[in-house]
Amino acid sequence: MNCPVCGRELKDEKSIAKGIGPVCARKLEKLKDKADEDQLKMELSFEDEK
Ligand SMILES: [Zn+2]
Repeated sequence: MNCPVCGRELKDEKSIAKGIGPVCARKLEKLKDKADEDQLKMELSFEDEK
């Protein structure tokens, strides 16, 4: 089974059960919060600068 978001093979049992990889699951959770999207981008760019 592959992750529907990034297409990578799911090897973890929990990821397979969810049908999505752990990283993409986190991304989607954040995307659900559309209101905080701009703030999220700021936080992500801030992390890149570290
Ligand atoms: Zn993925």
